[in-house]
Amino acid sequence: MHVYSIPMRVRFRGITRRTGLLVEGPAGWGEFCPFEEYDDDEAAPWLACALEAANEGWPAPVRSRIPVNCTVPVVEPEKAHEIVKISGCSTAKVKVAESTLDEDCARLEAVRDALGPQGFVRVDANMMWDVDTAVTAIRAMDKAAGGLQYVEQPCRTLDELAKVRKRVDVPIAADESIRKADDPLKVAVAGAADIAVIKVAPLGGVRRALEIAEACGLPCVVSSALETSVGMAAGVALAAALPELDYACGLATLSLLEGDVTSDSLVPVDGYLPVLTKAPVPDRIEGFANDVIAEAWTNRYGRVLNKLSR
Ligand SMILES: [Mg+2]
Repeated sequence: MHVYSIPMRVRFRGITRRTGLLVEGPAGWGEFCPFEEYDDDEAAPWLACALEAANEGWPAPVRSRIPVNCTVPVVEPEKAHEIVKISGCSTAKVKVAESTLDEDCARLEAVRDALGPQGFVRVDANMMWDVDTAVTAIRAMDKAAGGLQYVEQPCRTLDELAKVRKRVDVPIAADESIRKADDPLKVAVAGAADIAVIKVAPLGGVRRALEIAEACGLPCVVSSALETSVGMAAGVALAAALPELDYACGLATLSLLEGDVTSDSLVPVDGYLPVLTKAPVPDRIEGFANDVIAEAWTNRYGRVLNKLSR
């Protein structure tokens, strides 16, 4: 096992370092990286995901490469244009609701200009709006972007999402509303979203996530949980095994980390990630090893493993 600590290039989710543990089994390497504030119950599916990769491997893929989106943070329009152009992606996810509506719209116009008419623009509001604000903002942004593919998590609750969904033509995607295995079903039953954003580690691995995706009946977008390439490979395996994949996935997040544990990094080329049969070997762990947190992570692994086997 290797414990790692990698600085984040930008502060994200309030964290400045990504930490976790890599474990090797007969089928390859897996990554156990629940966020540090999670208790052992919440961490359990993350370990199930890591152990699936290490002990069993993944189900057969039905495609050989995965389209991914680039991410545009809250930046000036010129910078947004540049980020999209450099990425080579035909889908851009734009963070909104942290600046004024006019600024968001100006950024969206720049993104559309960079993508051209064939590209897809989606926005993520990270639960920042109430229902009325969401409806106003979504209509304005849809116009500025020359058509939005979808809006991700405009409000906090399922009830609010359902209300917004009734009032706008832009499809609604649920992200924060889906954190646990039974959440996608609740989202579907509540009529709260058109699309589910799913993450392989919190849902307990590729096989479990496939079952959940099928049960909820919504089109899915696979997103990362800020893993290194070892854990990212499991997300790619999920995207590769989904019977339908209508949208680009949020799996191009490696660039948010200062480095990677492997020399075979899952970095997109021309907007696509390759599908791997197993995670890349962590051959660059030395620079990210951390004695201070090693014992805490090993103990956490032991406790959660205990929980899983009970
Ligand atoms: Mg999101």
